[in-house]
Amino acid sequence: MSQNGKPKIAFFDFTCCEGCQLTVIDSLQTHPELLDVVDIVQFREAMSEKGEDYLVAFIEGSCTRESDEERLRKIREQASIVIALGACAHLGGINSLKALHPLEDVRKYVYGDKADWYETYDARPIDAVIKVDGEIPGCPIDRDEFIACVKALLMGKKLPIPDYPVCVECKLKENVCLFKKGKVCLGPITRAGCNAICPTYGASCEGCRGYITNPNDDSMREVLAEAGLSVDEITSIYTMFTTYQVQQKMKQGKETV
Ligand code: SF4
Ligand code: SF4
Ligand code: SF4
Repeated sequence: MSQNGKPKIAFFDFTCCEGCQLTVIDSLQTHPELLDVVDIVQFREAMSEKGEDYLVAFIEGSCTRESDEERLRKIREQASIVIALGACAHLGGINSLKALHPLEDVRKYVYGDKADWYETYDARPIDAVIKVDGEIPGCPIDRDEFIACVKALLMGKKLPIPDYPVCVECKLKENVCLFKKGKVCLGPITRAGCNAICPTYGASCEGCRGYITNPNDDSMREVLAEAGLSVDEITSIYTMFTTYQVQQKMKQGKETV
C-alpha cells in the first residue's frame, strides 16, 4: 500500500504488440476515477517512474525466451496478485504460431544473418512459467472489462469474466449468424465478454479470448467441416490464438482444444 492507503499496481510487458497496455491507457482516459483508488508505480508505456514495490502486477505479452522466465519469477515474488493481460499473456496468443515452424527457420526469417544474436524459444503463456491469479482475455483487452476487473480486484472479488460463448452476445445483438452468410466463426466455443464485436461487424470470431470451460469441440469441428473446411483449415482456424494449448493437448494424446 502507498502512504495514502491506495494499493500499488504495476504493468509489465513481455513479447507482444503492447496494444493491451494502450487499451489500459485509453481506459484511464475514459475512467480517470480509477487513479483515485490505485497508485500506478510502474508502467513503461505511460510513465518513467519505476517503483519495485507493488501489490498487483498486470503482465502483458508471452514468454518467448529463457531470460523472460527469471524476470517473470521476480515479478511473481513481489506481487501478491498476478493478472495476465490480453491473449499473448493469457494464451501465448499469435506469438505461439511460431511453434508451427522449425525454430531456426523462424529465427532466420526474422533476424536474417544476425539470427545467432537473439535468444528465443517457443512462445508460451505466462502461466506456463509462474502461478497466475486471473486473466483479462482478448486481443486487445476490452477497456470496460479492464476497469470492471480492477474494481473487482479492489473489492476482493472474482474477476467478472464470462464463461459462456460469444454466440450468446451475438444473439442478444440480433446479428444474422455468419454461418448463414457462408462464413465460419468460432463464436460457439469462444469465451464471451467482447460483446461479439467481430461478428457484429461481419468478421469471424477467431477465438482471441480463449475457449469456454467445456467447449463442444466435436460439434464445432463438425460444423466447420459441414461449412466446407478441410482438416488443415480447421486446424488453422483453431490455432490462431491457441497454438500453445492445442500443442499441449496433442502432447497429452488429445486432439481437442
Ligand atoms: S493480446 Fe493482442 S493487442 Fe494485446 S499485446 Fe498481444 S497482440 Fe497486442
Ligand atoms: S456469427 Fe458467430 S458468434 Fe454469431 S451466432 Fe454465428 S457462430 Fe455465433
Ligand atoms: S469476437 Fe472473437 S475474435 Fe473477436 S474480439 Fe470477440 S473473442 Fe475475440
